[in-house]
Amino acid sequence: MDHLAEADRRHVLHPATSIGAHQEHGPDIIESGEGAWLIDGQGRRLFDAVGGLWCVQVGYGRPELADAMAASARRLGYYHTFGGASNPEQARLAERLAALAPKRLNRVFFGSGGSDANDTLVKIVWQYHALRGEPGRTKIIARKQAYHGTGVATASLTGLTSFHRQFNLPLPGFLHTTAPHYWRQGRPGEGEAAFVQRLVQDLEALIEAEGAESIGAFIAEPIMGAGGVIPPPEGYFPAIQRVLRRHGILMIADEVVTGYGRTGAWFASDHFDIQPDLMASAKGLTSGYFPMSAAFLSDAVFEVLREGDKTLGNFAHGYTYSGHPVGAATALANLDLIEREGLVDNAREVGAYLHSILAERLGDHPHVAEIRGLGLLAGVQLVQDKASRQAFSPEAKIAAKVAGAARRRGVIVRPLPSVDSLALSPPLIVTRADMDRVVEAIGGALGEVLAASD
Ligand code: PMP
Repeated sequence: MDHLAEADRRHVLHPATSIGAHQEHGPDIIESGEGAWLIDGQGRRLFDAVGGLWCVQVGYGRPELADAMAASARRLGYYHTFGGASNPEQARLAERLAALAPKRLNRVFFGSGGSDANDTLVKIVWQYHALRGEPGRTKIIARKQAYHGTGVATASLTGLTSFHRQFNLPLPGFLHTTAPHYWRQGRPGEGEAAFVQRLVQDLEALIEAEGAESIGAFIAEPIMGAGGVIPPPEGYFPAIQRVLRRHGILMIADEVVTGYGRTGAWFASDHFDIQPDLMASAKGLTSGYFPMSAAFLSDAVFEVLREGDKTLGNFAHGYTYSGHPVGAATALANLDLIEREGLVDNAREVGAYLHSILAERLGDHPHVAEIRGLGLLAGVQLVQDKASRQAFSPEAKIAAKVAGAARRRGVIVRPLPSVDSLALSPPLIVTRADMDRVVEAIGGALGEVLAASD
């Protein structure tokens, strides 16, 4: 192990990493990136079909972003935004985002990442209801298999048990209803429309059991990401939103993965008829080049907070890096590139091609049960036995092994071990030929790993 790898091994606690494996094998150092390609510590080129962690919309090594960051850092490397302080980049970015976001979401609060965006929204939900004379509306309903972050509140929103069990979470008041995954949760003989009806009934039953007057908000990723890349069944969000409205419960869309063109629209709420009162975004906002989040509020929610200011005083929430000028400059340059290069359209068109070749080339594979997603966001469901839907045993670590075999073929895909799935979320600059390469690598990896397991 060279000096840097050894330094990393000795001193870094890595996120979402087996400590034992890191101690034994050392880190996986990535040296540089260009377009959709990464160069590792051995000088090997790897095609990144995950876009980092679902975030590098414009690809790696873009001089436009590096130049915008450098120019902005030279002009004003930092200043806070507390007490009404601002900077030109923040003001410009907020105006631009209000024009892009689903209508009614015209106010934006800046932070540093997806977790803090959702944490901000939970606090706004509490404040909103308290100001309207319903301080008891503190509970938040999320879904099983959801991913909303790893802060104390946001890991509680997350519905993956691996993020709970080591940390005495979820906190009380963070509830989880059924995941809208028809393939896994649907019952034999139950049509998709009946499944949606059952999800609505599950939600109603939870609201009734807890008391609607105790519930502040419902939070959902338009397409679940880390929980398996799960798009909603037809009609799901309109039906859910009818229930929420009837009970005075706010709707939070978590667009941290799905925002900024990923699904072939600026925001996936636009695809599924989601009318959020609040919305979280991060990742693709800066293509990951700067840690930045944008949490959106509807005009109606903002008005309640504005009124409340008369009695409460300051909006007592914010971060040192809220509205960071270098982050905002990065986001503006990133949005310029997405627009100028037509990357939202490219995500839609190349994404449709990706889904068609996944279906054509892997759909009949005996261990591929379902191919899901939209635009340049895709999930491949692996299964031991297709007919009975018998899962692989967790000890077999099939998804991780397939991802490992794909990587040996020069392509990075993301294993989602808790749901035996592979996730794809490549930069939005990719071509059809790139997608051919990715699907070929997955096919080869499946052949290698699953032939060994049969
Ligand atoms: N929400 C969703 C849907 C996410 O996928 C993630 C991160 N993968 C987050 C929130 C949390 O974002 P961060 O890691 O930037 O805190």
